[in-house]
This record gives sequence, structure tokens and C-alpha cells, in this order.
Amino acid sequence: MSARRDEIDQRSLQQLVMKRFAMAALTYGLALLLTWITVAAGFYKASLGSAVVCSVLIVLSQLMFLGLFWRGFNLRFEDPSLTEPQVLVALVWLTYFLFNLGSARGSLLVLYLLVLMFAVFLPPKVFIRYAVLAFVSFVGLNVVDSYLGRLAEPAAFLLEASVLLVTLTWMCLFVNYVYQLRQRMRQRRFALQAHQDTLRGMLRQLEDLASTDELTGLYNRRRFLRIAEGELGRLRNGHQIGLALIDLDHFKRINDMHGHAAGDRVLQTFAAVARACLRDGDVLARYGGEEFVLLLPTTDAEQFSACCERLREAFANAQPVDPGIQAGQLSLSVGLTLLNAGDDLEASLQRADEALYRAKRSGRNRCEAAWATSDA
Ligand code: GH3
Ligand code: MG
Ligand code: MG
Repeated sequence: MSARRDEIDQRSLQQLVMKRFAMAALTYGLALLLTWITVAAGFYKASLGSAVVCSVLIVLSQLMFLGLFWRGFNLRFEDPSLTEPQVLVALVWLTYFLFNLGSARGSLLVLYLLVLMFAVFLPPKVFIRYAVLAFVSFVGLNVVDSYLGRLAEPAAFLLEASVLLVTLTWMCLFVNYVYQLRQRMRQRRFALQAHQDTLRGMLRQLEDLASTDELTGLYNRRRFLRIAEGELGRLRNGHQIGLALIDLDHFKRINDMHGHAAGDRVLQTFAAVARACLRDGDVLARYGGEEFVLLLPTTDAEQFSACCERLREAFANAQPVDPGIQAGQLSLSVGLTLLNAGDDLEASLQRADEALYRAKRSGRNRCEAAWATSDA
């Protein structure tokens, strides 16, 4: 699946490069043709009007260069190799253009720098390759001119070539500096990201610690109330949530007879037994002392009663955790109710508490329900 996605990505990237290559060729071609025609037709006739028109057209054509490069600006950061076809095409066109300019080419030499300016974000090695190509192209076209006997001023050519060489060397140094700077910034960004990840992990740990009961590992009351409010807010009409308050019977006696540590182990036993009885989506929390609260998302009266009954029996039949505690000595009472959309959580807890009180009054070790406010 992911290999196929990679293949599609690769294909669309290739299509994109081809499209940009074609666009670049077209735009540079137009721009240079325009410049060449206007320079050839207007510049040398030296009439003021044609010189002005020619200059305006030169500026416009160069703006077209800029526009094209600018359009690729965002993509360039995602994949710098996309800039390469543009620069390559621009250099080739420019060389052809200068070749046709004759002795006026020296004044337009600066266009090489303009083209290379947009390659400054490429790695220095690649940039140097294009700088060398620009220099070799310029020298090469003059050598061809000289071979054809068209080179009027060899001294001017030497001067132009030297200026180009020095400027390109400076540009290469600058690109290297920019590259180093970007590398350093990237390293810092990675370091910052790592710090951020560590902080996020610590925050998660802290949140877990603040929302978990240390003794039983269950959610604490605060976390439970937050979850319950969330579930109640999301509850749709026609659906119900089960809410039960569970209280261990005669727990004080266990503490008094077997010690506080044994009492703690009984609380842990209850947590383990309840975890084994419940499903993943069910929420169990220690509400306080030896009192627990249970929330079952999406249930009905029958299912919820059966679940609480199962839990009560499982705890009553749990293996004694302390040598002193006899089998069958442990029991719990449950007060349960159902929540509908729009119910108030506090009122529902109050309802469950009243049902629990009834369970205690009726002899403990049982489940009592309060399905609606009127039942309580
Ligand atoms: P009932 O059946 O009516 O619920 O009686 P009970 O003895 O269980 O209830 P009571 O409220 O009288 O006593 C609860 C006891 O639970 C008192 C308290 O010392 C004890 N308790 C509360 N928290 C802890 C705890 O973390 N560990 C231990 N070992 N005991 C605790
Ligand atoms: Mg109790
Ligand atoms: Mg109690």
C-alpha cells in the first residue's frame, strides 16, 4: 500500500518536474526572444523612442524571469532539485541570447548572476556546477566568436571574463556560507524538537500521575468526573450511560481486625477483580476511601444490572489476599442508575448514592437500582 503511494508520489513528482521544465523553457524563450528582438531592433538605431521601448521591454522580460522563479519559491524548499531544470534552461537560453548580441553582451553579463541568484538555496556543490557552467558558456561563446572572426575587442572580453570569474567566486563563497547557516539552523531545530518531545512526554507522565490513584492504579475522582462530563456531553438521544457507586462492606472492620496494610491489599484486590470483569471502554475510578465509581458507555438497564451483579459476585468469590481474611468475608454493595442525554451528572451521582444507601440498609452485598429521579 505504502509502496504504491510512493510510486504515485514519484510519478507525480516527475510530472511536476517535466511541467516546470517545459514552462521554464517557454518563458525563458519568450523573455529572451523579446529582449533579443528589442535590443537588436532598437538599441543600435539609437533613436530615443526605440531605446526607451527597448529598455522597458528588457525590464519586463527580466520581470518574467523573476515571476517564474518566484512561483517555484515554495516548492523549492520542499524539493530543491525542482529549481535545477529552471536554472539550467535559463543558463542555456541566456548563453544563446548573448551569443546573438555581439559586442553588447558585456553589458548584459549581469543576467548570469540574476539566474544564479535563484540557485543560492541549492547545495554548494550543485551551485558551483552551475557557476562553472555559466563561466564556461560565456568563455565558450566568445571563443566561437573569435574562431568565426567576429570578436571585435579581445581585451574587452578578457576584462568581462575576469569580472565574471571574480563575481562568481564571491557568489560561491556566499552560497557556502548560506548553506552552513541553514545546516546549523536545521540542527538547532532538530534539537528543539527533541526537547519538545521530551517535555511532551514528561507532561503526559505528569498528567497520568495527577489523574491516577496511587494505591489501585485506577483513575481518581477528578479524572473520572472529567471523563463522565465528556461522555455525557457526547451522549445522543435514545442512548444511555450506566453509572454505579460501589462501596466495600464493613471495610472498617477489615482494617480494625487485620490492619491498614491488609485493608490496602483488599482495595487492590477489588481493582484487579473489577478490571478482569470489565471491558476496555468501561471507566472505573476510585471515588474516595473504599468507594468506587463505574461508568459504562452505551448500555441499558438489563445489561448494566447484569454487569454490576457479575462484579459483586466476582469480588465476593475473590481469593483472600491476607492469611487472616476468611473466604466469603469480602463483599460490596452497589447503587446504580442510568444517564440520558441532558441529565445532570451531580444529580445522577446523588441518585446512585441513594440507591447505594438502600442496598446498605437492605443488608449489604447487593445491587440496588434507581433508574429515574422518581425511583430514588
Ligand atoms: P459500610 O459497610 O457501611 O460501608 O461500612 P464501612 O466500614 O465499609 O464504612 P466506613 O465508612 O465506616 O469505613 C470506611 C473505612 O475505610 C474507614 C477508613 O479508615 C477506611 N479507608 C479509607 N481509605 C482507606 C485506604 O486507603 N486504605 C485503608 N486500608 N483503609 C481506608
Ligand atoms: Mg464501606
Ligand atoms: Mg464508604
